[in-house]
Amino acid sequence: MQKPPVNWTNTLLFTLTPLFAVTLVPWYGFTHGYDLYEWSVFVLLMGFCGMSITAGYHRLWSHKSYKAHAVLRFLYALGGACALQNDVLHWASDHRRHHAHVDNDDKDPYSAGRGFWFSHIGWILRHYESGKEDFSNVKDLQRDPIVAWQYKHYLSLVLLMNIGLPVLLGFLNGDIIGSLLLGGLLRLVLSQHVTWLINSIAHIWGRQPYSDASSARDNGLLALVTYGEGYHNYHHTFQWDYRNGIKWWHYDPTKWFIRGCSFVGLTSDLKRISPVVIETARLDLQFRRAAARCESLRNADKWQQRLEQEYEQMKSTLQLWAQHQQAWYEAKTTELQEKWNHWERLQIRDSYREVGFRLKIQRQRWHQLIQSFPAMHAASPA
Ligand SMILES: [Zn+2]
Ligand SMILES: [Zn+2]
Repeated sequence: MQKPPVNWTNTLLFTLTPLFAVTLVPWYGFTHGYDLYEWSVFVLLMGFCGMSITAGYHRLWSHKSYKAHAVLRFLYALGGACALQNDVLHWASDHRRHHAHVDNDDKDPYSAGRGFWFSHIGWILRHYESGKEDFSNVKDLQRDPIVAWQYKHYLSLVLLMNIGLPVLLGFLNGDIIGSLLLGGLLRLVLSQHVTWLINSIAHIWGRQPYSDASSARDNGLLALVTYGEGYHNYHHTFQWDYRNGIKWWHYDPTKWFIRGCSFVGLTSDLKRISPVVIETARLDLQFRRAAARCESLRNADKWQQRLEQEYEQMKSTLQLWAQHQQAWYEAKTTELQEKWNHWERLQIRDSYREVGFRLKIQRQRWHQLIQSFPAMHAASPA
């Protein structure tokens, strides 16, 4: 099959910039050296580009998982141009298509099914049919004046942010070349590859706790370099959630940033998926996997029955817990407090805690049951 024509602008840009970065940056470091100011500019601009892509392009514009004040949207638009990852409209349109047709080699612009190279960078180096411009899925974004403004002035913004800003910052420090190399070139190449890792590695390497319907994976290590975007299995399962790492200890600086901004009124309407829905998704997947493993056991029927019984019990306790949680939430909300007297409220609280305790015990038993299957499998001759 004949390959589509090469996109020469992108090919030259994405071959020459890394080439210059690995040669010129160390050369200048050895001959002139970089100072703390230049390294600080590098780190700050890395963060600015990274956050503009993850919090802005991705979680705000592509998924609408929260609302953002115009000031923040303006900064995201500048940071996105600085990251040189195309304008918001192209980025979000490709990304929405990626979610809608994930792993479909003909429709997903960076389908992981076409291999590491293609999903990482290959998709931008040629004019592939799957990457054709089609803004029909971003009509809502075209109405955002900041998005429209960035689209119109994209090239000027790219030059301003990638050359103008580092030159200015370097001028203030008395070394324009050093600032251009670290804050401009090295930052550009690294921030681009970091984003692309989410399309490549996060669809290859990691766990699938929430869904196995796509190739997306959760990878805590990848989250460390991608501002929290490594929890990609969760993200593909629940794309409207403003968080990617849902546990408090999951390293997701984008989530912390969005939440932090909500305290000063820069963000609002932060969407979260309810814990019961999330746990049910996990439970369903664990059940299907355990049921498949149990098929090859001796007394498969007996184990299957046991598994189903525990699964149904877990599901109903989860539902019950959700109802009690809702009741307790209503009881403690001040406006509604007149509905209940003090003792009734205590009763609601205690039964919520009781169901929570029952759920905890049941969860432990469920985990013991599903974890015992592979061991039994090894011990029992088929
Ligand atoms: Zn996404
Ligand atoms: Zn993905």
